[in-house]
Amino acid sequence: MEMWYTEFHTDTVKWSIKVDKSIYTDKSDFQRIDIFDTDEFGRVMTLDGLMMVNEKDQFIYHDMIVHVPMATNPSVEKVLVIGGGDGGTVRELTRYKTIKRIDMVEIDEMVVEAAIKYLDYTSNKLSDERVNLYYEDGIEFVKGLKDEYDLIIVDSTDPIGPGEGLFTTEFYTNCYNALTENGILINQKESPYYEQTAREMKRSHDKLSTIFPVIMTYQYHMPTYPSGHWLFGFSSKGLNAIEDLDKDAWNALGLKTEYYNTDLHVGAFMLPNYVKELLNA
Ligand code: SAM
Repeated sequence: MEMWYTEFHTDTVKWSIKVDKSIYTDKSDFQRIDIFDTDEFGRVMTLDGLMMVNEKDQFIYHDMIVHVPMATNPSVEKVLVIGGGDGGTVRELTRYKTIKRIDMVEIDEMVVEAAIKYLDYTSNKLSDERVNLYYEDGIEFVKGLKDEYDLIIVDSTDPIGPGEGLFTTEFYTNCYNALTENGILINQKESPYYEQTAREMKRSHDKLSTIFPVIMTYQYHMPTYPSGHWLFGFSSKGLNAIEDLDKDAWNALGLKTEYYNTDLHVGAFMLPNYVKELLNA
């Protein structure tokens, strides 16, 4: 008997992977969590039937969410990760010796527990002594904070379920206030390709534009997310991801990366015309 995981990418588009073995399935207070093994993508974690992370392409997502802001401001010392329960974003951050504190606020403790037990490839640095784990709602966590973090990374699910409030003007404003003078906010900016995610991309962009003086968008190729073409938002109080990129400083760190490099860093901000038009509309 064959077992297949099928995900709806739109109401009329489905995408499937053959499953070798189901490893874990449970329901938390927030979402359904599944972990399974596949031939093509290795070990996979899905939440509510949506791909979160898998062994084969996770390096692309985690390289781009972390190294782009870190190469723009190598002086970052205090970082807040909101979501990110699989641990991959924290894993990349811990490679920087200059980072002194990493606070990760994940609403769902069961995601972290499952990642620690079954996804060693992403969760293996959650025990780093600089990492503090908070099992709270990120929306509440940032309320009232002032000048606290040099970098905030929103490594969230889509704007449905517990992740919905992470795409609001109030949340982005609280992040702005929580950032230090050279602060950077990186957020999940969905995909321009299909209508629903393009709408969310545009909404996120418009809201951030009313709050941050610098608003930039960069792209990466994520084979297992709908359409494979995904975006992160780079918003800051002043730093420009291209003009302030410190290529020499980043390259001198000697970090080995499979996807990110400082040429790609610049290229990732060069958006296709249809994406520019959607964002500027
Ligand atoms: N790489 C993934 C992606 O873009 O599909 C994101 C992975 S990570 C597992 C997303 C995490 O965000 C989930 O574990 C989820 O529980 C967490 N999350 C969703 N809403 C949240 C909130 N309001 N506060 C904190 N964490 C939240």
